[in-house]
Amino acid sequence: MKCITDIKALRELLKQWRRAGESIAFVPTMGNLHAGHLQLVNRAKAQADRVVVSIFVNPTQFGVGEDFSLYPRTEQADQEKLQAIFVDAVFMPSTEEMYPVNELTKVSVSQVSENHCGAARPGHFDGVATVVCKLFNIVQPDKAFFGEKDFQQLTVINAMVADLNLPVEIISVPTVRESDGLAMSSRNGYLTPEQREQAPQLYQSLCTAKVLIRDKKTAYIDIEKQQKKFLEEQGFRPDYFSICRRYDLQTAGQDDSEIVILVAAKIGKTRLIDNIQVDVEH
Ligand code: AMP
Repeated sequence: MKCITDIKALRELLKQWRRAGESIAFVPTMGNLHAGHLQLVNRAKAQADRVVVSIFVNPTQFGVGEDFSLYPRTEQADQEKLQAIFVDAVFMPSTEEMYPVNELTKVSVSQVSENHCGAARPGHFDGVATVVCKLFNIVQPDKAFFGEKDFQQLTVINAMVADLNLPVEIISVPTVRESDGLAMSSRNGYLTPEQREQAPQLYQSLCTAKVLIRDKKTAYIDIEKQQKKFLEEQGFRPDYFSICRRYDLQTAGQDDSEIVILVAAKIGKTRLIDNIQVDVEH
């Protein structure tokens, strides 16, 4: 496995692969790799000749007072995990390599960036869209793999790729969970043992809401209120619990068929997000 920190060297390697007619899959991450990330990598390996994984904790997607400086950086262990599953190259640029000058350009995807996590974390999705666009231009992959765990992020990236005609196919991968239902996340490591015990209730609230939606007896707004209250009783501080249309993340009506329920809530200082998809037959 090649470990590369500069853009020029990565482009040189990619050029050789492309010249040999090999297809390239790309998995962008912020590192501290867990089984969720590795699932993306395994999907990528199955669908391309070469797999490039990036590890970059992108400062521009963190707000003031968020966990940028605390974010777990475990490069050695990450490299070992990627080596063990035969990744071809890991790209680990420094902040200076990615942002050498005070950049004047940013990618901003309107509407789908604005509600839910976008409202709670102003500028977050501009940071995500911009860095992913830069990484796509550096790697120029045939396919790129993203987790459904970050459903709004996936929606933002899909809109960016469609709107800007970026020549990459986005493949989404279902959320990988712990055995008790908690979605795997690098931020789970912040939880105290007691908080870790409470954390699966986040997924539980989504499962309950899914059943209620399928029952069709409760108004969506009431389901949202009930589940927020449930989360408060479990010791969370819910940020939002939203029943949305899957294609544009706007509030779902009772006659919509393709739904995603998005939730974000804090336990202590840790902010967790999760979601579940619901298909409603009419
Ligand atoms: P991150 O390192 O948190 O920025 O995540 C990198 C990629 O891994 C993103 O596309 C995430 O959606 C995806 N990912 C993170 N956690 C999971 C999970 N539990 N299951 C599937 N994909 C995930």
